[in-house]
Amino acid sequence: MRLFDALLNLLFPMKCAVCGKPADESGLCGDCREKYLRELFEKCPVCGNSPSDCICGAGFLDHTGTSLGGTGYCALCWYRTDGDEDRVTERMIYQLKNRGLLADFFAAELSRCLKILMEKEGENPENWIVTYTPRSYEKYMETGVDQSEEIGRRLAKRLGCGFRRLFDRTEGEEQKHLNAAERLENAENSLEIRAKKIIPGGKYLLLDDIITSGATMETAAKLLYFYGAGAVYPVAVARTMPRGRGRHRD
Ligand SMILES: [Zn+2]
Ligand SMILES: [Zn+2]
Repeated sequence: MRLFDALLNLLFPMKCAVCGKPADESGLCGDCREKYLRELFEKCPVCGNSPSDCICGAGFLDHTGTSLGGTGYCALCWYRTDGDEDRVTERMIYQLKNRGLLADFFAAELSRCLKILMEKEGENPENWIVTYTPRSYEKYMETGVDQSEEIGRRLAKRLGCGFRRLFDRTEGEEQKHLNAAERLENAENSLEIRAKKIIPGGKYLLLDDIITSGATMETAAKLLYFYGAGAVYPVAVARTMPRGRGRHRD
């Protein structure tokens, strides 16, 4: 497989998913990778923590109850909604969600973090199962990508975990009578679980691409526990950065 990749790269040199310059095997060029790494070290303007330790609005953690290595969840990077053109993280996530690019990159990064956390806690990845909250059918048809599935499969392979789809998005028809805010909330929470597939006492890494309000995580975790899961640990590519004072709203 690696030989095949090398040949492929010779014929079609990899281009950076963000800027189009020649990329290394991560899928990014040196400049963009460096920028991404720098953006990882930004702190939450409200609580001053890193993406995995930001406690702002992290009420979803009350419903997951599992921690690995002292943190309640794992989120790689910040997702910022203030439109700073200079940042690369948001552009990477855009490419992920719309073209399925960088799924390998994010899976490798998540796997690195999770291996460290599990080793600290003496957890064997083989005892865990990766599951994910799928994209809505409409979005999937529009883009041809379910980014969490793409990353989840690769993450499970890298960790040596199981991988199982346990959720479906429910149809949006009953949304007609809702106002815009309610509709958004409903869309986020419209998850159905494949209850028969839950292993009693099973340990689940619950993957979502971006944690914003945490509502999706909360709903999914509650459902997993309700149907017998033993542990649920939230994993995300990014956490939406809370807005601090001085940063204007849109
Ligand atoms: Zn680049
Ligand atoms: Zn925070």
